[in-house]
Amino acid sequence: MIAVLKSGTTAAQKENLIKWLSAQGLSVHVSEGEYKTVLGLIGDTSKIDMDLLSGLEIVDQVTRISEPFKSANRKFHPEDTVISVTDTAKIGGSNFGLIAGPCSVESEEQICTVAKAVKAAGATFLRGGAFKPRTSPYDFQGMGAEGIELLLKAKAATGLPIVTEIMSISHIDLFADVDVIQVGARNMQNFELLKQLGRCNKPILLKRGMSATLKEMLMSAEYIMAGGNEQVILCERGIRSFDPYTRNVLDLAAVPLLKELSHLPVVVDPSHATGAARLVRPMALAAAAAGANGLMIEVHNDPMHALCDGAQSVTPDQFAEIAKAVATVRTAL
Ligand code: PEP
Ligand code: MN
Repeated sequence: MIAVLKSGTTAAQKENLIKWLSAQGLSVHVSEGEYKTVLGLIGDTSKIDMDLLSGLEIVDQVTRISEPFKSANRKFHPEDTVISVTDTAKIGGSNFGLIAGPCSVESEEQICTVAKAVKAAGATFLRGGAFKPRTSPYDFQGMGAEGIELLLKAKAATGLPIVTEIMSISHIDLFADVDVIQVGARNMQNFELLKQLGRCNKPILLKRGMSATLKEMLMSAEYIMAGGNEQVILCERGIRSFDPYTRNVLDLAAVPLLKELSHLPVVVDPSHATGAARLVRPMALAAAAAGANGLMIEVHNDPMHALCDGAQSVTPDQFAEIAKAVATVRTAL
């Protein structure tokens, strides 16, 4: 249930109402907008007398929310959430996040070369996997802790904040200086991991599971938010279907739909969605046109020799051209 308060409500009146609601066993999520305050009431609201609540002098309107995701729900929080890492690295609202870098960190030279190139092309975040979720245990598993150290070197060299995937909460200490923690498609419903990340104070980039519905994705965001961490970025990265021409099927309708349902920023990963470097540009442009708040693109200095996902990796030059074209689409919007 949500209660929208009238503008002009004093802090003391707000406090009193929150006390009264809490005394009825509800937890109250307060969202202060520019003009309105929205109270999200979480818990068993069946005993709340809606007429009594809506009749209060300071209450503008009361609505029952049927969706099971409360914190992620736009009804709770009408304004777009903006994830702000630095003055120039923000995602959400009118801020577009351009996250670029290799699938995996492979060496200091590789990650620093790519970091410098993508920064020059306008990227606002550097990505790179240190812990890699691979289908085969015999494939390259990532450099682990050393990979994170190399990402931090690339961050020091370029100033780009870093995004990297966590696979186990037992590694969390290694992520102390990571700016955005990625939860990959395979872990979108690793609820224990999500609960633990709900207790950390860093933005989480949550990728859609390969066969997850949008509701399931929002419920996963809810797991993180219910723990107190409201900094969640949703990432559409394609879902599995029957046509083997592409690695996955990019669900672009997810962008406007998620933005309708939730206030959280939505980014699109055209690299994992298609699995083919030549399809990254058109899908990146389409994602920007669909209203995405950002893109995550795999870039490798030598895709032919990449240890992971070379086929879908664009070169730094190709990335620079894509970044320009995306900017043109955004201006046209
Ligand atoms: C990745 O971003 O490197 C990755 C493994 O993506 P996904 O979880 O979407 O497959
Ligand atoms: Mn990859």
